[in-house]
Amino acid sequence: MKPSIVWFRQDLRLADNPALQAAVERGGPIVPVFVWAPHEEGDWPPGAASRWWWHQTLESFAADLESVGSRLIVRDGDSLAELEQIVEETDAEAVFWNRRYEPAVVERDKAIKMTLGARGLEVQSFGGSLLFEPWQVETKEGNPYQVFSAFWRACKRLDEPEEPSPAPEKLPHPWKWPDSVEVDSLELLPRIDWASGFRDEWTPGEKGAAERLDRFLREAVPDYKDDRNRPDRYATSKLSPHLHFGEIGPRTVWHETRRRLGDARFTNADEGGEVFLSEIGWREFAHHLLYHFPETTDRPLREKFDDFPWRDDEDELKAWQRGRTGFPIVDAGMRELWTTGWMHNRVRMIVASFLTKDLRLHWLEGARWFWDTLVDADLANNTLGWQWTAGCGADAAPYFRVFNPMTQGAKFDPDGEYTRQWVPELASVVDKHLQQPWEAGSPPADYPEPVVDHAEARKEALAAFETVKG
Ligand SMILES: Cc1cc2nc3c(=O)[nH]c(=O)nc-3n(C[C@H](O)[C@H](O)[C@H](O)COP(=O)(O)OP(=O)(O)OC[C@H]3O[C@@H](n4cnc5c(N)ncnc54)[C@H](O)[C@@H]3O)c2cc1C
Repeated sequence: MKPSIVWFRQDLRLADNPALQAAVERGGPIVPVFVWAPHEEGDWPPGAASRWWWHQTLESFAADLESVGSRLIVRDGDSLAELEQIVEETDAEAVFWNRRYEPAVVERDKAIKMTLGARGLEVQSFGGSLLFEPWQVETKEGNPYQVFSAFWRACKRLDEPEEPSPAPEKLPHPWKWPDSVEVDSLELLPRIDWASGFRDEWTPGEKGAAERLDRFLREAVPDYKDDRNRPDRYATSKLSPHLHFGEIGPRTVWHETRRRLGDARFTNADEGGEVFLSEIGWREFAHHLLYHFPETTDRPLREKFDDFPWRDDEDELKAWQRGRTGFPIVDAGMRELWTTGWMHNRVRMIVASFLTKDLRLHWLEGARWFWDTLVDADLANNTLGWQWTAGCGADAAPYFRVFNPMTQGAKFDPDGEYTRQWVPELASVVDKHLQQPWEAGSPPADYPEPVVDHAEARKEALAAFETVKG
């Protein structure tokens, strides 16, 4: 039998990989291919932190493929042209891949499917990155959902996601491998090495992902419901980059969590596990929205926000990006992001509220900064997160709910451990003044004054909101 090409994209894993599984079941040699084509991602090509992750995960996946007798063919160019060339070089008869849902990628993939299909190849795409395909879930009227709770209830009425397939032990290879470039030649790593904090924190790849899930289910899931809002604790899975790059599939997360819930060692785990799976549900919801409302990557879902009077202030934007706003919990989050490529969800909401409400800067400024600096930057989740916080998206927090950074900091980091870790200038400020150091008798000289007066800024934000409320 002639070879099949498996075109890997954001599904860099051997287990629970429907496209790879289909190639195994078809029989014959398998050619695993990855094409680096950032210019095909529309206005959202991978940012610096994502590129760092891509480098590591490609090397890790190439080694995993070698351990099952195969190889990763890496190309740099236009996806269609590279795939066509590999078809020529290997005489392949089939091309399989797992779907992605970003608008520019959906359009590209449709065109590639048509062109390769017209050449007589067997071309198939599979659902492996979500529990439920975006078009599987619809309201009674046949529309997409815009409210999470109703969406998730509808998902749970569908058949349970399939059990994931195990990793193949051996992959049949072609008699001659096509050309491949070195991962190094893609130049994904930063020229100036700012990523040492990333190396300390992350192990990109399928093994690193499995270890994260295992540790979370052993240590943290029982308390997840209560502790998931605490940035000072190990309380959430940190699976987001692994899920984004497809180093672990959501079906594995779903079934593994359910299986462990039956384990008697986890007394509180049922509730924790259910809440955890509903967060995976938010990821599903984000992709559902992105698929049905592709314009929302750059425009608010609630159109009246098109006319919102956003401000423009380079200095304040820079203060926010660099963690120098003078609001400790905001600065802690922004510095955690810069150093590790990740930020706790509660703190993401606080810093996003601060940017869009206290500073009244456009949510896209925040979305773009996150896009460049997060290792889990994900067009669906990031768009939802920003529009939700700014009040202009689906099921959004109302615009008039403005987070108070002082009370949020005191509530979710009560001992100040997280804040002091990331803002060491405040090490000696007592708990009482930690979130408002300007009230301390002698505030630390090396920490900035607050860029705005929160109470004033809140009033101005609400007045601005009145202009689009209608
Ligand atoms: C302004 C803003 C921007 C965000 N940008 C991103 C982003 O670019 N990429 C990203 O993956 N998440 C984003 N999120 C969602 C959320 O903050 C992260 O998914 C979460 O913090 C990741 O940590 P975790 O893996 O420990 O989460 P856990 O609590 O362990 O949750 C498990 C998984 O569920 C998914 N998930 C959890 N919360 C959400 C959510 N609110 N929306 C969608 N999926 C969720 C993630 O895949 C996560 O890995 C954003 C949130 C906000 C408020």
